[in-house]
Amino acid sequence: MYTPMMQQYLLIKEDYKDAFLFFRLGDFYEMFFDDAVKASQILEITLTGREAGGKERIPMCGVPYHSAKNYIETLVSKGYKVAICEQTEDPKQAKGVVKREVVQLITPGTITEGKTIDSKTNHFLACAERMNENELAFAYLDVSTGEAHAQIIEGGVKECIQQLQSLAIREVITAEGLQLEMAELAGAAGIVISLEQEEIGVHTVEVYLKDVPEQVKPAARRLLQYVERTQMRSLSHLQAFTYTETKQFLRIDTNSKRNLELIQSIRGGDQKGTLLWLLDETVTAMGGRKLKQWLHQPLATRGAIEARLAIVTDLLEEFFLRGELRDLLKSVYDLERLAGRVAFGNVGGRDLAQLRESLRQVPAIKAQLLESGKETLENVGHALDTCEDIEALLARAITDHPPIAIKEGDVIRDGYNERLDELRYAARNGKDWIMQLEQKERQLTGINNLKIGYNRIFGYYIEITKSHIGKADLTRYERKQTLANCERYITDELKEKESLILNAEEESLALEYDLFLKLREELKAYIPRVQSLAAAISELDVFMSFAVVTEKYRFTKPVFHEGRSLKIMEGRHPVVEKMLGKQMYVPNDCILPEEKNMMLITGPNMSGKSTYMRQVALIVILAQMGCYVPAAEAELPITDQIFTRIGAADDLAAGQSTFMVEMMESQHAITHATKNSLLLFDEIGRGTSTYDGMSLAQAMMEYIHTEIGANTLFSTHYHELTQLEEQLVRLKNVHVAATEQNGRVVFLHKVKDGAADKSYGVHVAELAEMPAPIIERARILLEQFEAQDKPCAASAAAETIIVPEPSVEPVQKEEDLQLSLFAPVDEVSPEEKEVLEALEKCNVMGTTPMQAMTLLYELQQKL
Ligand code: ADP
Repeated sequence: MYTPMMQQYLLIKEDYKDAFLFFRLGDFYEMFFDDAVKASQILEITLTGREAGGKERIPMCGVPYHSAKNYIETLVSKGYKVAICEQTEDPKQAKGVVKREVVQLITPGTITEGKTIDSKTNHFLACAERMNENELAFAYLDVSTGEAHAQIIEGGVKECIQQLQSLAIREVITAEGLQLEMAELAGAAGIVISLEQEEIGVHTVEVYLKDVPEQVKPAARRLLQYVERTQMRSLSHLQAFTYTETKQFLRIDTNSKRNLELIQSIRGGDQKGTLLWLLDETVTAMGGRKLKQWLHQPLATRGAIEARLAIVTDLLEEFFLRGELRDLLKSVYDLERLAGRVAFGNVGGRDLAQLRESLRQVPAIKAQLLESGKETLENVGHALDTCEDIEALLARAITDHPPIAIKEGDVIRDGYNERLDELRYAARNGKDWIMQLEQKERQLTGINNLKIGYNRIFGYYIEITKSHIGKADLTRYERKQTLANCERYITDELKEKESLILNAEEESLALEYDLFLKLREELKAYIPRVQSLAAAISELDVFMSFAVVTEKYRFTKPVFHEGRSLKIMEGRHPVVEKMLGKQMYVPNDCILPEEKNMMLITGPNMSGKSTYMRQVALIVILAQMGCYVPAAEAELPITDQIFTRIGAADDLAAGQSTFMVEMMESQHAITHATKNSLLLFDEIGRGTSTYDGMSLAQAMMEYIHTEIGANTLFSTHYHELTQLEEQLVRLKNVHVAATEQNGRVVFLHKVKDGAADKSYGVHVAELAEMPAPIIERARILLEQFEAQDKPCAASAAAETIIVPEPSVEPVQKEEDLQLSLFAPVDEVSPEEKEVLEALEKCNVMGTTPMQAMTLLYELQQKL
């Protein structure tokens, strides 16, 4: 039979089986049984035991209350949940076991404070529900800032996981069926799935859902229900869900976001080298988060994009105004998270002083905008609610420099409350009186070093050193404490004043605390206004950031049109350019007229093919975010989606073969792209043997050409493919120029019309400091191949030496382009013929990646 307390523990634990139960015992949170065993390992704390009334001691471990935050964060960051169970009655008044209740369930998606919470990143929690075979209802919110969004995800579970990853969501809530479907993919992506059963009849505030279509509402409701159930505290800062239709945005799948290094670099780690790193000149945390959101979801409607561009244009013309605004914005704290803390009721005096300081900047910001003489900026200014009433309230209520603690006074300003003033006056008066008493007693006793002191335990006292004890007036003095070299006394008079002062102080602290709580409640009513102010300020911050970046890196304004042609003159990859430092970046044009909107790019490795392709995508993304672009000129269509297949170093990390990943990404692009999309395929088919790769690359190009018609950039090291230009009317060959000087390759990084005419693989190998004998041998082999005018039956050694273009012959003249795959069929062996026929029959687009792998394997066996 367990002790009553342990029974209480077990009863509570029953409701929180999937969480670590932090059970408050005095100054500790204790864990028992399995929780204790597991937590002691994860947190590296000592596992002990405890008598609990049963036969054996039970495992136990604990963390001190004051440092619990760090331990909680460690557990949650590892994907666990922590239920905080507090004593909910005063132990002194308790009869029997002190009452305890769980007051909050902290989960990976709902944790709002800690080292892992980056102020410039939203920390979203999501909920997904199946609507039908293909579509999921998707809702997500940030518990710390209160912002909430809903959308429909097409493409099932896979797309949903992508969306979760791209928003860096750690926890997703689902119902049972979907939970099973998602488990594997979510697990691999490190996302925690939480189950939340629908509670019939629970009423969520429908006003939050007013903009959400009926079929998406269940997801939003379930999300709210989970947040309410786990947070168990006021959530008055939650904002209504905004519903976004995917077609309002330029869609970029997670792979492409990673390939293009928008927010995370391919190598992972810090943000250096990403587009975000280049763009982020925001000065507020809110602005930083907004910028990230815009980068995640650039726009896809011309009006909205041009409206943003207009604001940037006006800001660019106002150099001094920008300087002023930037200085003002620097003093604006994180209004969104402050509003969140007001709602949670854990806002302190310091927070309110920060809120006040932030609000103080707003009238000047508004005035600056209104006086700018620019219509777009005036509009932004008009829309700003200066919240002067809130500022005035805080100015009246809160002292200039309130301390962190809210129970130790100095938070509420004099003059805010009459009774508080009286109490403070009494206390201060009493202290003055005591100061005077010291003088008086010195005179009366003639003891010059007589002192009046105070300590917490004994209160006020008169202190006389040993040598003067004889002079103490014992008719009035009553001995209180004897120390080694002095005696301490009190007098009736002092006693009386002391109780007056202490009572006044105690009462004033209690009253102050009370007033603070009331103020905190009162402020809740203002949360929505602070939030809309926050939204406006964060956008302004992003616009300013765009202007700064534009000026710093010489960007120009993109022009949009209704057609589909794309023209970029002297475009640059802004991040590569910045990384190059003093070295000159070579700008390049990209001209894709509607009737010739596919480009096949050839050129040696390291010549800049992939940089060129990425730069086109980045320019499109920047432009649709409403930012200027790194080019001399840019005339762009509205692009609906961007897909990239760019070989990345980390393909293997995901545990799939490079080629498989390549095919899966290509499949994704090809099945989702429309004629308004932008496709980038870097070195398709590289992951497999030459003929496989080349056939697939060609088949894909043909398909995109005839079936999709999207603006497409294709790079390849299969020079044979360049002859496709003759068959595909919309295809154009370009190459990245390189030249040879003294037997060494010099990359010009210049994109020129026509196909590349020479392979520089060996030179690149040389640059990479491949051992000299290998280089020499490769040179000899290359000469042999060139002399044969046809890929020779290269030895295995030759295959590996000629990095990276094993079977390529230099293409000198167009008529030389007779290569095996395109050679008349009677020149090929019977086995090859069989393979070619099988390939021809194969419906590539109707083939799953797995089937493709199997087919390729079979074909390979035939050769
Ligand atoms: P490829 O895809 O042809 O192998 P990359 O695009 O990876 O080549 O470019 C290789 C390197 O060349 C880049 O890391 C960059 O340092 C440099 N580079 C690429 N394009 C340019 C350019 N336009 N101007 C200057 N340097 C460039």
